[in-house]
Amino acid sequence: MSNKKRVYSFGNKVAEGNGKMKELLGGKGANLAEMNLIGIPVPPGFTITTEVCTEFYDHGKEATVASMDAEVRAAMKKMEQTMGMEFGSNTNPLLVSVRSGARVSMPGMMDTILNLGLNDQAVEGIAKKSGNDRFAWDSYRRFVQMYGDVVLGMKPESKEDHDPFEEIIDHLKEEKGIKNDTDFTVDDLKLLVQKFKAAVKEKTGKEFPTDPWEQLAGAVCAVFESWMNPRACLYRQMHKYPAEWGTAVNVQAMVFGNMGNGSATGVAFTRDASTGENIFNGEYLINAQGEDVVAGIRTPQEVTLEGSRRWAALQGVSEDERASKYPSLEETMPTAYAELFAIQNHLETYFKDMQDIEFTIQDGKLWMLQTRSGKRTGAAMVRMAVEMCKEGLIDEPTAVLRVEPAKLDELLHPVFDKKAIGLAKVLGKGLPASPGAATGQIVFFADDAHEWAEKGHKVILVRVETSPEDLKGMNAAEGILTARGGMTSHAAVVARGMGKCCVSGVGALEINYKTRTMTIGGKEYKEGDWISLNGSTGEVYDGKVATEAAELSGDFGELMAMAAKYAKMKVRTNADTPKDAAVAFAFGAEGIGLCRTEHMFFEGDRINAVREMILADDEAGRRVALDKLLPIQREDFEGIFEAMNGYPVTVRLLDPPLHEFVPHFEKEQTELGKLLGKSVEIIKAKIENLIEVNPMLGHRGCRLGNTYPEITEMQTRAIIEAALNVTAKGVPVNIEIMVPLVGNHKEFKYQKNVIDTTAEQVFAERKKRIDYMVGTMIEVPRAAVTANEIAEFAEFFSFGTNDLTQMTLGFSRDDIAKFLPIYLEKGILKVDPFQTLDVKGVGQLLREGVFKGRSTRPELKCGICGEHGGDPASVEFCHYAGLNYVSCSPFRVPIARLAAAHAAIKQAGK
Ligand code: ADP
Ligand code: MG
Ligand code: MG
Repeated sequence: MSNKKRVYSFGNKVAEGNGKMKELLGGKGANLAEMNLIGIPVPPGFTITTEVCTEFYDHGKEATVASMDAEVRAAMKKMEQTMGMEFGSNTNPLLVSVRSGARVSMPGMMDTILNLGLNDQAVEGIAKKSGNDRFAWDSYRRFVQMYGDVVLGMKPESKEDHDPFEEIIDHLKEEKGIKNDTDFTVDDLKLLVQKFKAAVKEKTGKEFPTDPWEQLAGAVCAVFESWMNPRACLYRQMHKYPAEWGTAVNVQAMVFGNMGNGSATGVAFTRDASTGENIFNGEYLINAQGEDVVAGIRTPQEVTLEGSRRWAALQGVSEDERASKYPSLEETMPTAYAELFAIQNHLETYFKDMQDIEFTIQDGKLWMLQTRSGKRTGAAMVRMAVEMCKEGLIDEPTAVLRVEPAKLDELLHPVFDKKAIGLAKVLGKGLPASPGAATGQIVFFADDAHEWAEKGHKVILVRVETSPEDLKGMNAAEGILTARGGMTSHAAVVARGMGKCCVSGVGALEINYKTRTMTIGGKEYKEGDWISLNGSTGEVYDGKVATEAAELSGDFGELMAMAAKYAKMKVRTNADTPKDAAVAFAFGAEGIGLCRTEHMFFEGDRINAVREMILADDEAGRRVALDKLLPIQREDFEGIFEAMNGYPVTVRLLDPPLHEFVPHFEKEQTELGKLLGKSVEIIKAKIENLIEVNPMLGHRGCRLGNTYPEITEMQTRAIIEAALNVTAKGVPVNIEIMVPLVGNHKEFKYQKNVIDTTAEQVFAERKKRIDYMVGTMIEVPRAAVTANEIAEFAEFFSFGTNDLTQMTLGFSRDDIAKFLPIYLEKGILKVDPFQTLDVKGVGQLLREGVFKGRSTRPELKCGICGEHGGDPASVEFCHYAGLNYVSCSPFRVPIARLAAAHAAIKQAGK
């Protein structure tokens, strides 16, 4: 193995690493180092690099432990000196935590072990030194439990299996009639340790390790192993993080929040992660350790007085009761609180972003254990970015980059209909943990949530509390409801990250997993019953509640205005009706990139004229039917051109295979026969004649226009006449006529000829001209490759990446469901190529098409109109490929605009 540095020490306001070294030290390790460097009180420790994690997977445990042994021992020496304690001592033992930390935060996905270094002798030493037996044995009890779970494999694979430790605890609680862990006596704790160790022996056949160095090696390797545990793998898959990154391991001197009532532990956010409001907030527990706050075992209290009062108001708790039973940290430990408040301020100003911090108070002394950029909802993301920019904390490009385009989706999602919500029956109230409106059927297990959702059900996942194992089910649910846990509970943090509606800590909710029922508001609900959640108020409602479109905040508008300053690409929309176009324009679309004429054919009774045209015996018959269609299409185009008010509109000529327009059932066929004055047999025969083996590669696209030029004539006439009529009203018109499915430049040339000839006829009749462009879709691979020839005639290209993906990969979009999930699972594909552009294959064709097209016609306008036009990663690619615009569905317009700005800012080297 190489002789690179494997261990980086920190402590006492110095550090070998720093905040920029996230790839090597992980996010937690890098920031622990940085906090030391800026003078914040952090217990000393060291970080084992992510490279060692990779070594672990390449060379195994023994070789890895041996290769870092000397460095680990030297780093431990430094910690011992700083702390004045000794690792492995029986009288003055230094205890450590062993903490995972990847380069991006994966909350709760990997494992942490606290109080490592304890054994039967050391616990006595701690008890003696602290004069606090309860604390010593509480720490030991926690250590044996965590170590057993994480390192010795005591934790059951599935949540439904019994956890031997939890069973022992529950049993003892029952026996003694106590509710909280804090009610255990010292003797209870001693008994628990003994029983835990016996359980370990029984399950693993081995004694619990007593040598601290052996414990340490086991724990470090277990953290490395946790990088590959199923929930961490799933989390990475969901966020598209590569497995190669690996995790670092932080070994850090313990500080204790469980030393009594002068000690506490907590987590806090420098701003509200849910709404984005600039207000310090957090939760803490007195006499607690580690994950107690987020685990939802005891309901935590608010850190600030203001937060505590807000909480009490939500819960209907009186001020007297609040102050006596649930006081804030600001009230219980004012000195430590003041220091915490100053530090959070310092951290946010220093890191220039909202921080999610973890702290512990040992006997009145505050220690910081972690800081990172906090996860937040889409709404909070927008508000924080805009406000931080106004405060001068960050500049505009940074503010734009701070908002993930896909997160905007959450803001555009529906909220409850105001009338419906007024009538809805409120069953109870919890904490507004993650905003949004959700309606669904109750399920109690994460696996069920996943399965039900797969079958098309909308579900609400109801749990006492959630844990990282529930990730998959949470992702599948419309919303999450928990009986316990606060604003920083696992459910809350993860739901906010996913943009899922979540209500947590509903005290009045009782859940019975065995009977799959819950009781709330005096009513019992079964699995499958409907409820609704309001994640912005914390309210839980009976039954289904109707939803409506969201109202956009001023911050959203400001963000989009900023984005517009930086984006190079324009964003258009795919819209076939004036209504869709209006929605898109409200979101800032600058034109229509794809107007599918055939969608107009289905409205009202026009379909009869279309069918008459399709089933006509000859050209003359077709022309009769087309004459009926002409005024209808013209009117549609007038509506759209008027709504566009001079923005470009790309009208695509008829594209789908004709059989899509004719009836396939006898009853309708008979009716159609009557209407057209033909026998049902003739109709049937004609329709049968239209059936193709492979319609997507059949008689469609420009092949229709080239075999029946009269269709192209009629459509061109409708477009040009509409344009002339609208211009006559003084409304500017900017039209682009688009020929679909060209693979050979002659296909295009013929169509363009028909279009130009028809347009000239109309101009002659009207004695008036207007400008128009004729271009093509590039959606057949051959078109991309021969784009230089096509561009001799075509004035613009629009990449139809749905068909282009279909034909390049040879995947039928409508049949992909049979193999795509398996391909994703096996890693053969990383993403669905119909959602995110396949850069190496389809993207290469796109680049080639742009390059060759512009080699013939340098000013060639290029855009994209497939589903990919609204996918942030694909939009960024389009920017780099030099496209002039992307076009997407109306609701994705803001997402595409922001993604376009991101690409431009990143390219400019921000
Ligand atoms: P995660 O990555 O899941 O947040 P952490 O490594 O942050 O896990 O550990 C979880 C919790 O354990 C911390 O929030 C903190 O409360 C506690 N903890 C970790 N290390 C120490 C330590 N050295 N002293 C006291 N508590 C610690
Ligand atoms: Mg943490
Ligand atoms: Mg197509």
